[in-house]
Amino acid sequence: MTDSTAKTVALIAHDNKKETMIAFVAAHRDVLAKYHLIATGTTGGLIQERCHLPVTRMLSGPIGGDAQIAAQVAEGKIAAVFFFIDPLGAHPHDPDINSLLRICNVHDVPLATNPATAAFIISSERAL
Ligand code: PGA
Repeated sequence: MTDSTAKTVALIAHDNKKETMIAFVAAHRDVLAKYHLIATGTTGGLIQERCHLPVTRMLSGPIGGDAQIAAQVAEGKIAAVFFFIDPLGAHPHDPDINSLLRICNVHDVPLATNPATAAFIISSERAL
């Protein structure tokens, strides 16, 4: 169970990567359950329903959810961001997506844009 001191991990998946995210969270459920999870709206709803984990949901990505998560990264509130990006799709909120990636890099926050990298991050006790 999470507690009030649990570190926060942010989860975001583009539409074509939502099943990938669900499979990732299910496969790493025991580890992720130790963290406070936040997510963009639709991604978070799916994780709650399908993986039965508590998630604090932001707005949906296209209407500002990525920007909300970027703000929390800038404020030092996020231990890692797992953002499974669809590299083959066009996204109306590309400016917000790029801003989130940039803010992670500005603040040296672990950022995974695919499940292979996310698995490495959560397998490292030092990373989080
Ligand atoms: P969503 O947002 O989880 O609300 O679909 C993700 C995104 O596209 O940024």
